[in-house]
Amino acid sequence: MAYSNSPLASYTRLTSHRNSPRNHAIDRITIHCMAGQMTGKACADYFATTSRQVSSNYCVGYDGSIALSVEEKNRSWCSSSPSNDHRAITIEVATDSTYPYKCTDAAYKALLDLVTDICRRNGIKKLNYTGDLNGNMTKHKWFAATACPGEYLESKFTAIQNEVNRRLAGDVTAKGNASNGLYRVQVGAYLKKANAAAMETQVKAAGFPAFIRQEGIMYKVQTGAYREKANADAQAKKLQAAGYRAIVKAEDPDVAAAEN
Ligand SMILES: [Zn+2]
Repeated sequence: MAYSNSPLASYTRLTSHRNSPRNHAIDRITIHCMAGQMTGKACADYFATTSRQVSSNYCVGYDGSIALSVEEKNRSWCSSSPSNDHRAITIEVATDSTYPYKCTDAAYKALLDLVTDICRRNGIKKLNYTGDLNGNMTKHKWFAATACPGEYLESKFTAIQNEVNRRLAGDVTAKGNASNGLYRVQVGAYLKKANAAAMETQVKAAGFPAFIRQEGIMYKVQTGAYREKANADAQAKKLQAAGYRAIVKAEDPDVAAAEN
């Protein structure tokens, strides 16, 4: 399977603390606690600069920001277990530094989006938290003398499993109707096709995908269509950071069907 990285990461700073490539397909998720309320960026910066031999694939900040520290094709140094980390995506989540190592609602929400995205891209059809190594959600404390992931996140493992599985099951339903529930990222709408074409060229030159869709009398320049709103929002954020007035539009399934 070809490896990819999450489009939800808004910051990338890769660390040399890793093995490249991983030696096992991705079939586990290991959620950790940072024991510190950092942003995703601050955590990835730390992994890139510390002399401690530590890292994770992703860092989820207290503000819900997500950073990529070790690409998914590589093994992070996170769980005190090479065999676990070769097959797991490891995620450090910002938490309090003391018992019960609580995370913010924003971090929890971002974690759910990230785990869902990881499962989708890597063909993990279901999370299965069994409380032992027979499942695909593992804990750092099973491999080393540590409290990680901490009581708070541990208490959420079943809820994380259930919510992610609910979303993954929704994909199957949505696939029955290929146009159902897409979120389109749009950077402009024009009456003149030439103006849309100029914007399309500009957006492509900036390194984004772009294409023109005709809707009624308007020519709309779009840069992607996503089934998950979080992915569309992430793409819109990147475009906004590059100076574009990107908006996310939920597509009416009926309209989509009419266009087919
Ligand atoms: Zn840990």
